[in-house]
Amino acid sequence: MRTTVGIIGGGPAGLLLARLLHAEGVDCVVLESRTREYVEQRQRAGILEQGTVDALRDCGAGTRMDAEGLVHEGIELRFDRQRHRIDFPSLTGGRSVMVYAQTEVVKDLVALQLADGPPLLFEAQAIAVEKPESDRPVVRFTHRGREQTLECEYVIGCDGFHGIARAAVPAAVRRTYERAYPYSWLGILADVPPSCEELIYARGERGFALNSMRSPTVSRLYLQVPNGTDPADWPDDRIWDELDARFAVDGDWSLERGPVTAKSVTPMRSYVTEPMRYGRILLAGDAAHIVPPTGAKGLNLAVSDVRIMARAFAELRRTGSAALLDAYSDDCLRRVWQATRFSYEMTTMLHTDPEAQAFEGRVQLARLHRIAASGAAAAELAANYTGLPLG
Ligand SMILES: Cc1cc2nc3c(=O)[nH]c(=O)nc-3n(C[C@H](O)[C@H](O)[C@H](O)COP(=O)(O)OP(=O)(O)OC[C@H]3O[C@@H](n4cnc5c(N)ncnc54)[C@H](O)[C@@H]3O)c2cc1C
Repeated sequence: MRTTVGIIGGGPAGLLLARLLHAEGVDCVVLESRTREYVEQRQRAGILEQGTVDALRDCGAGTRMDAEGLVHEGIELRFDRQRHRIDFPSLTGGRSVMVYAQTEVVKDLVALQLADGPPLLFEAQAIAVEKPESDRPVVRFTHRGREQTLECEYVIGCDGFHGIARAAVPAAVRRTYERAYPYSWLGILADVPPSCEELIYARGERGFALNSMRSPTVSRLYLQVPNGTDPADWPDDRIWDELDARFAVDGDWSLERGPVTAKSVTPMRSYVTEPMRYGRILLAGDAAHIVPPTGAKGLNLAVSDVRIMARAFAELRRTGSAALLDAYSDDCLRRVWQATRFSYEMTTMLHTDPEAQAFEGRVQLARLHRIAASGAAAAELAANYTGLPLG
């Protein structure tokens, strides 16, 4: 097979990139190792920044999102048994976020792609990228048990953190920056209407908790737990009791309980690899960087990477200039590091670090009190949460 742009990975990054390139008249092929059913059911993120919402609308994937997604104009910070609302529109000049699950984003993009897009092959597993320094790199992959090759002008690694594309950048060129946090998130999905209208980020001596939702009838809740926690050690009643304790406030508020339909533990990690381009291979999304989910940035960063990349391919096609493609890595990394910094700050402000001294706990509270008391501090949080400009 031959194409202009070979995309490895049919997650949000790969699928959206294919739509954006298709709109610009650039040929591409998407190789996805899993089945359609698997990628459409994989539970992950759920908060879309304004720029992500705009990008999905612009590529024709906004209809169901606009009908079913929930616009959120703020979040609540909960600490010292008190509630503090951060109002996004008044602090950001009108910006907000959308609650719409990653599973639904993927379903919408897959449906569009299969209806009128360039080829999207499921159960097509990339094995290696060859000759990334040349102007004809090749992806070797297996599809339905048969080994094949995809000859491209550019190869895009959108294959997530555990993919193979990153390894095509020689170790001598690659730099990695990493931070593993001393805690994980135990996440549940529950068939119960959310007990809150906006997300609640709660910090307390028992640890962090997050109250969020996927839809008007499905709640998504998280608890900070020690690394290595086995979800089997957390029967449903224990989870609800702990959530009750962590969200407790002075005044009226109660947590609705319901049947738990999914339970999983996610370690918390920050990871950035540089550069995001080597020769004719470019990396996007989780293939290049991971953030802890506290800042709701993982999916949004994947989207901003491919928006920057699609703009560069459009310029190449229209003018023949590769200047934006040459700047791709630097342009993305500026934004990636801002999101990495914000995710780190939210994470370290809200979690109880088992290795920290009492001093750090007091500083965390001072940071939260500052945000609650200062419009400028709250505006900084709101600007980062709703998404910084693409640049
Ligand atoms: C358990 C979990 C929970 C998360 N929760 C949140 C959250 O609450 N909030 C948030 O903002 N972010 C969250 N994230 C992060 C967010 O989901 C990711 O940032 C987002 O999925 C990145 O999209 P992507 O397309 O770059 O990568 P992925 O979604 O990982 O997609 C990569 C795709 O490549 C495919 N692939 C891999 N290897 C190959 C290969 N060799 N050949 C072909 N295809 C391949 C994979 O099957 C996959 O479909 C979570 C991530 C995980 C893992």
